[in-house]
Amino acid sequence: MGCDDVVPLRERGQREVFCGLAPIVWLHRKIQDAFFLVVGSRTCAHLIQSAAGVMIFAEPRFATAIIEDRDLAGRADANAELDRIVTRLLERRPDIRMLFLVGSCPSEVIKLDLDLAADRLMRAQGGRVRIVAYSGSGLDTTFTQGEDACLAALVPQLPALPAGAGRSLLVVGSLAEVVEGQLERLFAGLGIERVRFFPPRRSDDLPPVGPDSVVLLAHPFLATTARALEQKGATVLTAPFPFGAEGTTLWLQAAATAFGVPAERFEAVTAPAAARAAKALDRFRPELEGKRIFFFPDSQIEIPLARFLARELGMELVEVGTPYLHRQHLAPELALLPDGTRLSEGQDLERQLDRCRADRPDLVVCGLGLANPFESEGIATKWSIELLFTPIQGYDQAGDLAELFARPLLRRSRLVELAP
Ligand code: SF4
Repeated sequence: MGCDDVVPLRERGQREVFCGLAPIVWLHRKIQDAFFLVVGSRTCAHLIQSAAGVMIFAEPRFATAIIEDRDLAGRADANAELDRIVTRLLERRPDIRMLFLVGSCPSEVIKLDLDLAADRLMRAQGGRVRIVAYSGSGLDTTFTQGEDACLAALVPQLPALPAGAGRSLLVVGSLAEVVEGQLERLFAGLGIERVRFFPPRRSDDLPPVGPDSVVLLAHPFLATTARALEQKGATVLTAPFPFGAEGTTLWLQAAATAFGVPAERFEAVTAPAAARAAKALDRFRPELEGKRIFFFPDSQIEIPLARFLARELGMELVEVGTPYLHRQHLAPELALLPDGTRLSEGQDLERQLDRCRADRPDLVVCGLGLANPFESEGIATKWSIELLFTPIQGYDQAGDLAELFARPLLRRSRLVELAP
């Protein structure tokens, strides 16, 4: 039946989410010669340091250029200070090949134009370093939009795919190297030869894009990037996302259909891996089947996760919240959700807390700020941000993904057993 024509509850109230600076935690590991310079406040510096454990690195690949009170008061030339900091950084770190200037709430408040700054600084460097600006501001955004903004800012830098080079597949969204390797092998098995991943591991290896590019999104939160790629002529496929055996098969199927892979070949390549994934899931079904789960709107991957947990592990969806519901990219997911699933879009924290407490789910997926209070009330929780920096896509990760949800339930049942 599905939920593709369901009107979700629309919430427009107080929010409790990380801001778009958080994806720096995984993006700096992904693009291995890039540096992320947040132009922000001490709060931004604190967030990024504690989120990424920067202290353990001798040469970290992100930092914060602090906007001081005198900058905010307009008593200093913030552009001149930024130029000075960037010049010093690039002199000290000649290994940096790509520099991201990441905007924040304070840089937006003082209207510091980082796009202009990026152009100016790149010229000053004689093009030696690619400098790109994007916003990670927490004003009206949720944290995964930081990755979307980063990738969208990179799209204009992508070289053109030469005419006549043949069709190529572009997988968009940062994935762990291990996942990329597995997917590469599956695409090769299907006979899809020209496959590139975006973002790349090295800044001098940007994938070309053009009218012969077929884009497969690895995450549902990349709407701006998808639009920018379409403007370069690429065709963006819509498919369920590669979570679990079913999601991965349908995601691969979208690419296989676009590239005309025969059904028998598709079956021969995917069936053994899908069977392995299904077997891995069997281990966790006894713990998860029939358990009630409530998703707070946080990461934008809630709907694909809910589909996976309901269809492949028999969990009961109490409420599935998402910060933004992109109907076009999520249509195939919505069609697979159990009929009548309660969906909510946006956040009104107090109302959602009330609904959640009234529903008493077994497991709540939420941001870090809500997890401890729920745990103290006896409700098991899963931090949604953990699902972003753990490899969870593809057949070989299906069992690991299920385990991420089974573990808090198991821990809670042990605590109950141990309670006096
Ligand atoms: Fe806070 Fe905004 Fe800085 Fe994020 S960008 S840490 S929300 S001030």
